[in-house]
Amino acid sequence: MEKVIIIRYAEIHLKGKNRGYFEHMFSVNLERSLRGIRHELHRTNGRYLVAKFDENRAEEIAARISRVFGIHSYSLGYRTESAIESIFEAAKLVGPQSGTFKVETHRGDKCYPMTSPEVSREIGARLLAEFPALTVDVHTPQSAVYVDIRENGFALVFGSFEKGVGGMPVSTSGKGLLLISGGIDSPVAGYMMAKRGMSVHYLHFHSYPYTSDMAKEKVISLAKLLSRYALTEELTTVSVTHIQEEIHEKCAAELNVTLLRRFMFRIAERIARNRGDQCLITGESLGQVASQTIEGMTSSNAVVSLPVLRPLVGFDKEEIITRAKEIGTFETSILPYEDCCTVFLPDHPAIKPKLSFIEEEEAKLNVEALVEEALAGAQRLKLY
Ligand code: ATP
Ligand code: MG
Repeated sequence: MEKVIIIRYAEIHLKGKNRGYFEHMFSVNLERSLRGIRHELHRTNGRYLVAKFDENRAEEIAARISRVFGIHSYSLGYRTESAIESIFEAAKLVGPQSGTFKVETHRGDKCYPMTSPEVSREIGARLLAEFPALTVDVHTPQSAVYVDIRENGFALVFGSFEKGVGGMPVSTSGKGLLLISGGIDSPVAGYMMAKRGMSVHYLHFHSYPYTSDMAKEKVISLAKLLSRYALTEELTTVSVTHIQEEIHEKCAAELNVTLLRRFMFRIAERIARNRGDQCLITGESLGQVASQTIEGMTSSNAVVSLPVLRPLVGFDKEEIITRAKEIGTFETSILPYEDCCTVFLPDHPAIKPKLSFIEEEEAKLNVEALVEEALAGAQRLKLY
């Protein structure tokens, strides 16, 4: 008998002619999420088994698995020989010792000498004899013991189904470049796209020395937290200090944010194209702040030709916060470090800037040279 984790994928996404690729990426992603932990990964009958791991680390492995996109459900349990004695030994370990319960058996091996109901009755009877505080309730039991008899002389025995995170395997839906700030929203935006199977690279703009090393560390922490799901290994950072100084010196103050955002998009697009990323991703939500009006979004879209995905555009702040808490980025996002957007922040940023006004002000700058200078200083940082 050995402890295993049984993983079932969200089958619906794995149908059709892409199935092989989906399955391949799914197992690659499982391996990536389990890196650093000794284990074996087996594929059996439309599910995956994690075996031969350090049993003291079972909880940690389960936690990692709970964050792999494409998983429908998973169970901690045992793989045993399919003899009824062995199944019972495992059932004692996964099952309850008091309260109401039922045994549910699935039989993949149709040659097995007992039928599924017979196995359930036999294991149930043995558990009742072993633990007198148990009673059977097949309709609304407090706990259950699941027995899955496989063709190869083995059985899987487990006590519950844990809900997986769903979604599609990362790397099966193209590549995107996430503009990640230290805020609450952009990590959630990255999560949403990775959940749909996108491979998400990270780009962060800073304005050192106006923004501190602590602010950068915060973004690195956020990127690592997001990577528990997105499995992204690198963060690109770019300084926009020189751009902000130029804008501050030469352009109308109320356009500071608008102009900076257009630079961010231009730089992001250049990096994305170099990397083969097919879109930009931001954490913008309609109307949340002055620059996130439809006019603001239009003015930044105007300088790029790649699509800009804004998965949070219709979300309320409350909804974004709830999701940020679920994925574990919220506590880090609210640490009080400055973002480059808050440096030189005007008292009254333009809410609905006219494109003609923006272009007039921008004409005072050498846009291409500023972008080139920013790109020349880009740094790539390994997250793990
Ligand atoms: P967030 O919580 O993601 O910071 P926000 O509500 O603070 O969002 P803004 O600061 O206006 O909104 O930023 C809007 C979007 O622009 C962010 O979600 C992010 O995608 C991008 N962005 C903002 N600042 C940066 C930055 N310093 N580096 C990279 N991207 C940024
Ligand atoms: Mg922000």
